Amino acid sequence: MDLRFSQEDEGFRAEVAAWLADNLRGEFAAVRGRGGPGDEHALFDERLAWERHMGRAGWTCVGWPKEHGGRGLSLDRQVIFHEEYARAGGPGRLGHIGETLLGPTLIAFGTEEQKKRFLPAIQRVEELWCQGYSEPNAGSDLANVQTRAVLESGHWVLNGQKVWTSGAQWSEWCFVLCRTEPEAPVHQALSYLLVPMKQKGIETRAIVQMTGTSEFSEVFFENARTPAENVVGKPGEGWKVAMGTLAFERGASTLGQQLSFANELEKIFEIARANGQAKDPVMRQRLANAWIGLRIMRYNTLRVLSHESAELSREAMITKLYWATWHRELGKLAMDVLGARSEIGEELPYELTGLQRMFLFTRSDTIYAGTNQIQRNIIAERALGMPREPKVAR
Ligand SMILES: Cc1cc2nc3c(=O)[nH]c(=O)nc-3n(C[C@H](O)[C@H](O)[C@H](O)COP(=O)(O)OP(=O)(O)OC[C@H]3O[C@@H](n4cnc5c(N)ncnc54)[C@H](O)[C@@H]3O)c2cc1C
Repeated sequence: MDLRFSQEDEGFRAEVAAWLADNLRGEFAAVRGRGGPGDEHALFDERLAWERHMGRAGWTCVGWPKEHGGRGLSLDRQVIFHEEYARAGGPGRLGHIGETLLGPTLIAFGTEEQKKRFLPAIQRVEELWCQGYSEPNAGSDLANVQTRAVLESGHWVLNGQKVWTSGAQWSEWCFVLCRTEPEAPVHQALSYLLVPMKQKGIETRAIVQMTGTSEFSEVFFENARTPAENVVGKPGEGWKVAMGTLAFERGASTLGQQLSFANELEKIFEIARANGQAKDPVMRQRLANAWIGLRIMRYNTLRVLSHESAELSREAMITKLYWATWHRELGKLAMDVLGARSEIGEELPYELTGLQRMFLFTRSDTIYAGTNQIQRNIIAERALGMPREPKVAR
């Protein structure tokens, strides 16, 4: 197993780093390091302008095939791109749901018309997307989705409620998993609809999170409408398409995120050195363990990349469980290193610091994109071939 990047790949790394160094300054200097978890509301217009700038230079959607407006980068190079983006302090991305979830789903399952209509606007960051899967009684148990849609005079008419919808308040579109075939067995009852958010039949109510900000919202559909052709796959194939989208959720951007974790860990090291915590033997052990965990993540990424078909490798299946658990622990470590100072805001009016926001937001890392328990089920069943979990009859 060769865990090194090739010389050509390292050349590409230098190209990405140089572009970011040349561009993430001047009018865009302010967005550096902003917009991360718990800071998602920060500098919205400025970050949008930055992403559009990236789009014009061909640095959005880098993993999409060239014919769809991407760069057609290999998985290795996508990881390199995301690593350098994090290293340069690139801001949290507003268009990431369209770019990493809906775009690849449309490329795999969409019609030619859908690809032409939606992909260019995602690549240019002109339309933002949100993901309408979860409902009050359908999170891990997604097959229990109750939002309904019926076809009426050339339009789907939707009624129901979604919850925890990230970015709903600023999205132009939502991909909605809903029940369209009430008589069909559960996995053939759902459809995957593309629904415009700015319409009378949709109400978005922000949910205030522990961070004091609202990264996600409740979304209510009351006779909301979308044209009949805005279904991805056939009506009743929503489950298959939705599972395709979830597979993309564990893609290159998560493999490349260790660099942003490394930035956070470095900040914690600095504080521990400055306030003497690094001299405490127990704390020193925890700091060393955090560093070791990061190295393990790095080597697992390289191991995943050394496979021909990285998306499907067994090693890829541990990625989410590992990084989410590590990152949640990092949040606790940050607060323990800060000691009593962790309870005090540093700016007025009472603004949380970056590390406080990180600590609070990392509580959700082990929930979204599949909880830790669900990840363990996936590893048990799909990677280790253990017996499937018994299904409860509805
Ligand atoms: C920050 C954040 C952003 C999110 N963004 C979005 C979004 O944009 N769009 C969207 O659709 N959703 C989003 N979600 C929702 C997320 O997908 C769900 O919270 C997640 O799937 C868990 O579902 P749930 O909250 O209904 O919990 P439940 O599924 O009710 O789970 C409750 C507990 O039971 C456990 N459990 C459930 N089933 C099993 C099982 N079979 N075996 C063992 N244990 C089990 C879970 O692990 C968990 O501990 C987001 C969530 C968060 C926290």
